[in-house]
Amino acid sequence: TPLLAERMSWIEESPSSRVADRVRAFQAAGKPVLPLTIGEPDFDTPEHVKEAAIAAIRAGETKYTSATGTPALQTAIRARLARKTGQSYGPGEIALGGGAKQLIFLAFLATLDAGDEVIVPAPHWVSYPDMVALNGGRPVLVGAGADTGYKLTPGLLRGAVTDRTKWLVLNTPNNPTGAVYSRDELAGLAEVLREHSRISVLCDEIYDEINFGTEPVPSLVSVAPDLRERIFLANGVSKAYAMTGWRIGYAAGPATLCAAISTLQSQSSSCPSSISQAAAAAALDGDQSFITETVAVYAERRDLLVSGLAAIDGLRPVRPDGGFYVWTDASRLIGAITPGGRRIATDADLAEHFLETSGVVVITGESYGCPGHFRASFALDSETIRKAVSGLASAVSALR
Ligand code: PLP
Repeated sequence: TPLLAERMSWIEESPSSRVADRVRAFQAAGKPVLPLTIGEPDFDTPEHVKEAAIAAIRAGETKYTSATGTPALQTAIRARLARKTGQSYGPGEIALGGGAKQLIFLAFLATLDAGDEVIVPAPHWVSYPDMVALNGGRPVLVGAGADTGYKLTPGLLRGAVTDRTKWLVLNTPNNPTGAVYSRDELAGLAEVLREHSRISVLCDEIYDEINFGTEPVPSLVSVAPDLRERIFLANGVSKAYAMTGWRIGYAAGPATLCAAISTLQSQSSSCPSSISQAAAAAALDGDQSFITETVAVYAERRDLLVSGLAAIDGLRPVRPDGGFYVWTDASRLIGAITPGGRRIATDADLAEHFLETSGVVVITGESYGCPGHFRASFALDSETIRKAVSGLASAVSALR
């Protein structure tokens, strides 16, 4: 249709929205579903955060703010970044957006020229390749499989670099695999990056607080501070503080890029919601016990889901070090035959079989650039996880 721009043909609706439509159709038909697709905390936003938002409304903090945020939020973000990375970021080195998602999009919009390449290790968060494509760039997917713990290695990185490479995307903890890069692994990648001064790194650390390790999730900028001018660090309050609907993300990076993002922001959305900004400042500045408490709950659910999936013949779940997803190798089920005589030829066939026989919904591996797998979320209560595991067990055992 002439109404839409050509660029709209370069991208697709996100697979998670497609699945959500399928689930709604199923529910509308009166069939129960067990949605292991959830991509957000099932906890409520902490009370003191909600109170801060209400107080902001009452105090009349209901006007446009600077594109880089209120002074209170700016200070809270810079303090959080200093605690996390050991780096002191100036006010000009911070960008604010309607979620980390918008900031990542704007970073690509601000930097990609036609044909610029962005290295995206797969499995990858569904949005990176489409965001790159929409902004005229070329996503270069690099498969990082089970043999490397689903992590990019220096060798894989070296093999993917060309003279058009502009960005490397590094997502730790990773969605969908839960892989967390160690300091040594980051140091190894930094070595390669030092050989290529034109490449910047987009570090997406949105899941860094949902961490099952004993040490904080390491940040590339702490391991290789000499690369700081080439690192764009994206984060936000969505996952750590159960604030997905408030839409506040923040980033730290080179002043030129942050200024460009603010310019784009000033010409498109002006600024994120002033009320959400007050809430985010309270989340970052206030009592952090919400994180410790919820991570303990996530850890129990993780063990429940991983052990449940591991007990099913044909499934090989990966125990995540962070985030709230279990990445599962189901490649042994591809080629199996359903009781109805249908052959499971693709991930989508397998997901459909799970849905039809047990009402369990998962997101297919191909959505993440890695067929033969699926992602199952544990941002759900234990009872739902137990039911889903038993549903998956019967769906798998029905296959020949
Ligand atoms: N990055 C990754 C890897 C994610 O999984 C998500 C949300 O699902 C985001 C970014 C977006 O987070 P936000 O709510 O801050 O936009």
